Formats: sequence, C-alpha cells, structure tokens
Amino acid sequence: VEKIKFVIFDLDGVFYRGFTPLSGGKEMLDFLQKNGIGYCFLTNNSSHPPYMYIEKLKDFGLDVYENQIITTSMIMDRYLDLHNISNIHILGSTHLKNALKSRICKKNEIPTALIVGMDDSINMADISYALNRCDANTQIIATNGDYFIPRDGHFDLECGAILDILCKALNRPHIIVGKPSPFAFDFALECYGAARNSTLMVGDTYETDIKGALDSRLQAAWIATGNTLPKHDNSTKFTRHSDLNDLIQNWLKL
Ligand SMILES: [Mg+2]
Repeated sequence: VEKIKFVIFDLDGVFYRGFTPLSGGKEMLDFLQKNGIGYCFLTNNSSHPPYMYIEKLKDFGLDVYENQIITTSMIMDRYLDLHNISNIHILGSTHLKNALKSRICKKNEIPTALIVGMDDSINMADISYALNRCDANTQIIATNGDYFIPRDGHFDLECGAILDILCKALNRPHIIVGKPSPFAFDFALECYGAARNSTLMVGDTYETDIKGALDSRLQAAWIATGNTLPKHDNSTKFTRHSDLNDLIQNWLKL
C-alpha cells in the first residue's frame, strides 16, 4: 500500500445523512490538515451547487472551500465538452441546468443527448416530455446511477430509478459520468494534480465509491454510516470502518 497523499471523500452517508451530521467529520479534516494531506469531496449528487455544500458543512462545524467540492454537474459539463455534445435536453435540477445552460437545445430541435440527473421535483409528466423529444439516435447520459440516497432515518429514490424508466421506454443503454465511472475519478485526480496510487477514496456505497475507486486503481475505505455492503462481501482489497473516527484510529496504526 502506497502512502496516502490525497483523499477523495464522498459526502452523503459519510459526513452526514440528510441534515444529521455523522461522527468524526471534524476530527478527520483536522487530522488531514495536521498531516499536510490534501482532500476533496466528490458527490454523485447533481442537485446542489458547491456553495450549498459549503454552507451545510459549515453548520456542522466543518470549514471547506468551494474549490474542494466536485458535483456530477461539473463532471457532466466536462464530459459533454470532450465529446462535443452541444444539443441536449435536461431532466434534472436547476444546478444541472445552470451548469449546462449553453448546450440546451431549442424546443423544436431533437436533442443529441438526454441528460439525466436527480431532482426531487421530477414527475411523470417531465419524464414523458423528455421521452417524446428523443429520436432513435438520442443518447442517454446520466450524472449517476445511484438508486437510493440515504436521508434522515430512511432512503429516497435517486437518479438510477428515473434512468431505469427511460432506458426501458427508449430501449437503449445509457452512459454514466459520475462514480463508478473512471471518468469521475480521473476528473477529480486531474483537478487537484493527485497521483492515482497515493490517493484514497472514502465512501459508503460499494458499487460507486468502493468498486469504482478500485477499478480506477485508487485505494478505498468503506464507512458504515450510510449504505450497507453487499451480502457475502469478503474482499480484502479495501478497508472497513464504523465511522470516520475509526478510520483515523486505523490510519494511525499504519
Ligand atoms: Mg454516499
């Protein structure tokens, strides 16, 4: 195991659940600062702009800068740029629409891509409207495939649930740009000039945070405060911790 020089944190289920902070957040950031280890936050959520995360984390006593937050709206913008996709319809939040504003196609045009993100206000009429705008060539590109998001004491449906309906109705596959896509991890490493083999991903969702990081050849640590691990999991490729305090304790033993 290479010495860790940079940490990418997931947010939901690691630092908070809904509006409830989880233990060890402040201690973890103090620990990294004291040891000169850089860090950022990579969330699969596309609903909120970075400044909203800053405010939320501040309420929990955590000082974080706007340039330390990466949302899947930002990753989507980069993806569309690289693939020269400029004619889109968006099913998602105001933040996602603002980030991709210049690419939104006119009402009478057929979109090259249908961009799918998460927003609590998306309803059946929005989904039907989006479906009716597509033709046989319209690609489906999603910010993330998460089916659930951990909230205070319960789970809500996320982007993956909407994606399921769209893919079935249009009978075609989709692309995901957020975690576990290598594109998301490469984007984060590039933003901060971090080296792959000395970067640790810390998250609560096996399919996105942990498997995604390992597939991208990063180190990975799972935190038990959000989503659960798959049944019969016995992989030795990542570490498991009850919360962020427990991760610090294990780190100190290395
Ligand atoms: Mg999470």
